[in-house]
Amino acid sequence: MIDAVAHDKLALPDGRALEFEIRASTKTRSLRLKLSAREGLVVTAPLGLDRQRLLALVAGKAEWIAGRMAEFDAVRHLIGTEPVARPQAFDLPALAESWRVEYKATRSRTVGARIDQPGRIVVAGAVDDVEACHAALRRWLARHATSALSPWLTNLAEQTGLRFVDLAIKNQRTRWGSCSAHGRISLNCKLLFLPRELVRYVMLHEICHLLEANHSERFWMHLRHFEPSSDSLHGRMRDTWKAVPIWAQRGTDFLL
Ligand SMILES: [Zn+2]
Repeated sequence: MIDAVAHDKLALPDGRALEFEIRASTKTRSLRLKLSAREGLVVTAPLGLDRQRLLALVAGKAEWIAGRMAEFDAVRHLIGTEPVARPQAFDLPALAESWRVEYKATRSRTVGARIDQPGRIVVAGAVDDVEACHAALRRWLARHATSALSPWLTNLAEQTGLRFVDLAIKNQRTRWGSCSAHGRISLNCKLLFLPRELVRYVMLHEICHLLEANHSERFWMHLRHFEPSSDSLHGRMRDTWKAVPIWAQRGTDFLL
């Protein structure tokens, strides 16, 4: 049996112990693991699931969890113990934009974000729910990134004479961009928090994957041809996660 909320520890492959929270739920029939910057690992289990069985199932995922945790290390400095407040303002250096955010409580049970005048976003609805406000702002960020990055990428591709099939804007946790073998480019909406030259670098990097689907010497040769400073720009990408505010970071949800 599992209490409504309990805690346990999982031994990770590197010897560290990860404390996690267990929530019993009548609504789920399978074990659900959620890893987020705010709450760490939370396991939601069907009410009445045997505790030993639960621990064995979670332990079976230890390697996978450790991998995700390592990815989280890249953003660990952002993981504070303080509850995260709703942002009042933020900058998008990629577009040289500054935004103020206002919150308006309404009777709606959902939360939405929209631009109400130049430089101002209004988040309206059940705004006491901090996470719902963050989610609404993340959806706004994705829409904003789609309208800003799509013409920019098209323009860059034209300059290189290369063609991509389509662009998808995502909120990947540790990836700035990718390019599929079919020529589908995806870009992270959080790129908007980076300086322009780095966003341009990421785009050119993905465009060059249309020529070489790897990081071979030939790939770098193409990239340096279009951007001679590629090596130093690539080096600057390492610290970029620090530029992303925590509200823009998405937790991950996965099923066992
Ligand atoms: Zn690459």
